Amino acid sequence: MTYTRAPQPITFPEMLRPDARLLIRGGRIVDPAHGVDAVKDLVIADGRVQEVADAILPERGDRIIDAAGLLVIPGLIDLHCHFHDLFDVSTMPSTEVVAHGTTVALTPGAGNTLMAPALLGAEVDRGLPLHVGCYIGAAAVLSTRASPEQLIAYFRGELPESTRLQVISRNPITNATGSLAVGLKDHMGHWILSDEDLETCFTISQQAGMLFMSHCQDPEHAERLAEASRGRRVLLTHATAAGSGSHGDAVASLQHVLALARDHKGVTVDFTTAHLRRSRGLRDGILIDARAQVTARDAIAGGRCRLLTSDGPCNATMKGFGDARENIPCLLELAEEGVVPLSDAVAMMTINPVRFAAEATGQRWWTQELGHLGAGARASVVLVEPHAQRAVMTLVEGARRRRVGQPHGSAAEGWSRGSAVVSLAVIARSEATKQSPWWGRSPRPFGPRDD
Ligand SMILES: [Zn+2]
Repeated sequence: MTYTRAPQPITFPEMLRPDARLLIRGGRIVDPAHGVDAVKDLVIADGRVQEVADAILPERGDRIIDAAGLLVIPGLIDLHCHFHDLFDVSTMPSTEVVAHGTTVALTPGAGNTLMAPALLGAEVDRGLPLHVGCYIGAAAVLSTRASPEQLIAYFRGELPESTRLQVISRNPITNATGSLAVGLKDHMGHWILSDEDLETCFTISQQAGMLFMSHCQDPEHAERLAEASRGRRVLLTHATAAGSGSHGDAVASLQHVLALARDHKGVTVDFTTAHLRRSRGLRDGILIDARAQVTARDAIAGGRCRLLTSDGPCNATMKGFGDARENIPCLLELAEEGVVPLSDAVAMMTINPVRFAAEATGQRWWTQELGHLGAGARASVVLVEPHAQRAVMTLVEGARRRRVGQPHGSAAEGWSRGSAVVSLAVIARSEATKQSPWWGRSPRPFGPRDD
């Protein structure tokens, strides 16, 4: 056989282009930030939300997902999810939380050491499937030779390397990664800080544009934090843990913490999703008291708590008070039982946390980029099957990260180092300096920060 002409080169149809638009059709879109709760279509292009409208005609090459019967909500923002506690080196917990709808997680993780952001940053560099940020332990930070002014400069990424080596750490990796932390954490279970050190934490977090968070299952400790705050922001996290009765009567303890948030301007509380479930959660061990759960739900209905967190990934080394698998069922149950409308429930893990973070840190990129489905937002989206109470697909930056029931990190679902999922602190830093972020150039997050 002879060819009369040279074979044509093979061309790929546009639908296989990785940069093709993604059209999600016919889902019930719940986007509390924009007051949307209706059946609509949504288009994602270049990792951003391009458009939400009643009926969007497909363009040639679009990838199309039929979302009929599904809820389509912004990716969940979890202000308190312990990754890398006890130096958990597996990335499985992070892939699992994504499968259950989390697209941004702030971890108090191994934050008792200065190395925590370095370790987390290394995971980001290897390609974590979601956005992460780290709270660093106050005790570790305050035990260095650095003055409060130097620590503020350190967290802003502005402390010269020669100084860092003198006052922070001789380890070049550790001392380079201060600006990967997005918050400071206090934990009375590990270290009880002096009044003077608490004051320093408020000053540093305020001036470095960081969050300040304290674990608050002990109402007496929560009261110390509230009194020290004097109008400055502090998040008393997983306040429903006070309702477990571990530090006194469950109902009285929870009411005590709630009163602190009511009476102190800068004090905010979040509740753990597991504690609000009909079943009071999947977790073994310390449970919320059933009477305290009523108090917690009443507080949500009354608008006294507008933030929900998981406290923990699904199968991590350390188990906290809850579990990311509880998040979506919790949001649905709060709506089903009439505690709050569905849109308000979804807001508690989407727009409310980013509004809180933006106000507490003075950094507007939180609300511009995350927690909503407006045009231009980072396209983190969860498709939820409401009757099964679970996420069936999670998109982070427009890329399908994982569907429930598929093997971890399989090639078909794979995410690559080249994906744009990065540490939140790196977004913050690039926004603050208006430089192109490091992932847009050569990836070099852990070398000396001379840029
Ligand atoms: Zn915690």
